[in-house]
Amino acid sequence: MKDSARLAALSVHTLWLQQLRDKVEVMEASGVDVINLGLGNPDLPTPPHVVEAAQAALTDPATHRYPSFRGRPEFTSAMARHYLDRWGVALDPATAIVPSTGSQEAINTVVAAFSDRGDVVLAGDPGYGVHFSAAALAGTDAVSLPLDPVTWQPDFAALDPAHVAAASVMFLCYPNNPTGVLAGAQTFAAAVDFARRHDVVLVHDFAYAEIAFDGHTTTSVFETAGARDVAVELYSMTKGYSMAGWRLGAVVGNPDLIDRYLTFKAEIDNGTFDAVQLAGAAALDPHRQDVLEEHVAVYRRRRDLVCAALEAGGVPVTPPPATPYIWSPVPPGFESCAAFAQYVLDEVAVAISPGWAFGEHGTDHYRISLMAPDEDLAVAAERLASLNLA
Ligand SMILES: *Cc1c(COP(=O)(O)O)cnc(C)c1O
Repeated sequence: MKDSARLAALSVHTLWLQQLRDKVEVMEASGVDVINLGLGNPDLPTPPHVVEAAQAALTDPATHRYPSFRGRPEFTSAMARHYLDRWGVALDPATAIVPSTGSQEAINTVVAAFSDRGDVVLAGDPGYGVHFSAAALAGTDAVSLPLDPVTWQPDFAALDPAHVAAASVMFLCYPNNPTGVLAGAQTFAAAVDFARRHDVVLVHDFAYAEIAFDGHTTTSVFETAGARDVAVELYSMTKGYSMAGWRLGAVVGNPDLIDRYLTFKAEIDNGTFDAVQLAGAAALDPHRQDVLEEHVAVYRRRRDLVCAALEAGGVPVTPPPATPYIWSPVPPGFESCAAFAQYVLDEVAVAISPGWAFGEHGTDHYRISLMAPDEDLAVAAERLASLNLA
């Protein structure tokens, strides 16, 4: 039986990453102590009060029915309050916020709802691979929106005018996975202007809304004038609150776009479990935001630990201002980032992500995830340093 054209259109990079995952599993099964720093999968547990809120919600039979697509008011109003407190952005919880079943779902649904065959989905490159694969799975074409290799901000002028004319959706992501940078002062204004002029839905993937270090602050796209006319923002509970397995996020912003997102989504899934939404509301409780500081403190400690160990080993690194990722140039002497990642896995049993996995503009770099226990990170950094990569 054949693959559909859409399945077959998944990029070789996606498939290569699947092979890497398989290879790590085989190595682990054969007893090799692999340290996997290739994934963005939070290792910190979900805060206990969030788990308790879910346990209480589970015992209420009202949560056992199909959820409403508009979401539990407890969750949407907690999200509205959170946006106001964190970013000074006022949103109507009844029309401008709905739960997603995690951002992965929202990314795919948004593309399918707003982009047709023959259209183009612009995705910041380097960027999150799912922005590209969502286009493949929806039967439209992903086109790289290059990020400047020094600032990692979008270079709209580099786009081919034919792609601009065909664009229907544009993805940006700040704090940026994989580069760890924050949005530049003009980035969202330029993006909103571009979206308006070219009739494009601006989708801001805000997965790292809560993870910035050293006094840096993150920016919601809705702090920018005009964004409400053209944008939705994808908030995720996964990284900040360590809720990866729960599958909960929110699509935030333009009510008309949200209505159309829901119309499409209603045919695909039946919403997000109410008990999970109530757990999300507990996580967003304004009196319990100390958990974010704790999580950020852990990632900052890990960042400093890994950067120090790498530098001591002569590997040049720049500590990121945000995100639990270290993004570094591939050391000299390797023919590609994939060859480097393969070498590191084979030589010292550490799995890292080749920059290639994040698009063609990531090719000269690699990414280390800090979502692993300190002990593992310390050993991994020593192993990397032992390779004499300077
Ligand atoms: C981890 C990640 C996601 C996935 O978020 P979920 O809400 O768990 O689906 C989305 N976007 C980016 C950029 C990510 O790094």
